[in-house]
Amino acid sequence: GWTAIGTGMSGHAMPSVSGLVGNRRWMAEALGVPLNALHTTFRHAAEHPAPWAEVPQASAPCQQHVHRNADVRALLPIPLHNEHDSGPYITAGLVIARNPSTGIQNVSINRIQVNAPDRMATLLLPRHLHAFYRMAEQKGEALPVAVVIGVDPITLLASQAVASLDCDELEIASALHGVPLRVAKCLTNDVRVPAEAEIVIEGRLLPGVREMEGPFGEFPRYYSPQEAREVIQIDCITHRANPLYHTIVPAGMEHLLLGGIPREATILSHLQRAFPNVLDLHLAEGGVCRYHLYVQIKKVREGEPKNMIMAAFGAHYDIKQVIIVDDDVDVHDAEQVEWAVATRFQADRDLVVVGNALGSILDPSADHGISAKMGMDATRPLKYEGLTFTKTRIPGELEVDFARDLRAIDRSTIAKYLAD
Ligand code: MN
Repeated sequence: GWTAIGTGMSGHAMPSVSGLVGNRRWMAEALGVPLNALHTTFRHAAEHPAPWAEVPQASAPCQQHVHRNADVRALLPIPLHNEHDSGPYITAGLVIARNPSTGIQNVSINRIQVNAPDRMATLLLPRHLHAFYRMAEQKGEALPVAVVIGVDPITLLASQAVASLDCDELEIASALHGVPLRVAKCLTNDVRVPAEAEIVIEGRLLPGVREMEGPFGEFPRYYSPQEAREVIQIDCITHRANPLYHTIVPAGMEHLLLGGIPREATILSHLQRAFPNVLDLHLAEGGVCRYHLYVQIKKVREGEPKNMIMAAFGAHYDIKQVIIVDDDVDVHDAEQVEWAVATRFQADRDLVVVGNALGSILDPSADHGISAKMGMDATRPLKYEGLTFTKTRIPGELEVDFARDLRAIDRSTIAKYLAD
């Protein structure tokens, strides 16, 4: 399943891995649930976080080896990913920090450009880590952080939960695991990190310091431009014996799904609060698992799909296009969604366009994030003449099992057929 980049390309002694969760089925398998239970499982854990358990210091596997004055560029096989990236980037680092006033932790994945042996610049989106950093910086203090590389798939997915400010994503990981996640206190600060992690970079986000970061090839397959960003000063690097270095290839399926699945779970619960007849939804791969949302409904009232479109625009600013389909259309199959648009949608009647709304800053066709929204009601009318909107079906076709039928044919028949 997973892709090993291995040691060959870089010549570095530490092996690199990527694509660990580049497939929805692998994600479901890691969670031990069927594919169709992915959203409900994630949503339940996000709504019912569970405490983690601290292991005694120095007993954590992630602290088996300690480097106090290492060059991060030499110690770790940090790859240069895209043609025009400014340099090597850590892309699978879970940045963990504590709220300076409450001590409650936050986990996020931030892209990290390596600037010097002990200094890295990072992009802080206007979310929780940024809020903690601003609290520290306003007092003229650094914010202690840990950059954790190489965690299990469940913790990786939990880190991407769309949670509230004082929700520790490691507690969502505990809930998803079904047992408390084992954490260890960092050697140089109070941040708690997953004890089983491969590599931990301990450091501080420095107050009042900015360095240039970028360009860097991001999830929409475009470069985000160079700008002055916050800086992490490295204090210490710890790792397991024989660690694996995890990198997320930007815009690869692992990158897209890690953001996509938690968003789907959140948007589904948001929509279902207002519309219990929303059955399923999917952030399409072609829309980089962020911009294009397909929603499957059991239609009960005319007009309601347009209300759903408007609610979906409000669920997350990244959503640019919404397509509503009936329950006979599989939202996980882009071809079926296109079929619904082709046969149930009329642009002069079923299209919703909203101009000058907030969209994704990384969409190059938007004007610094100011973007148009498009919604399509591709549901069939509730009442129609005869068979007008009845999807054709060959009775029994779903029950056909070709594998079973082939096994039933005796070998001599196949041999005779092949000989002809
Ligand atoms: Mn958070």
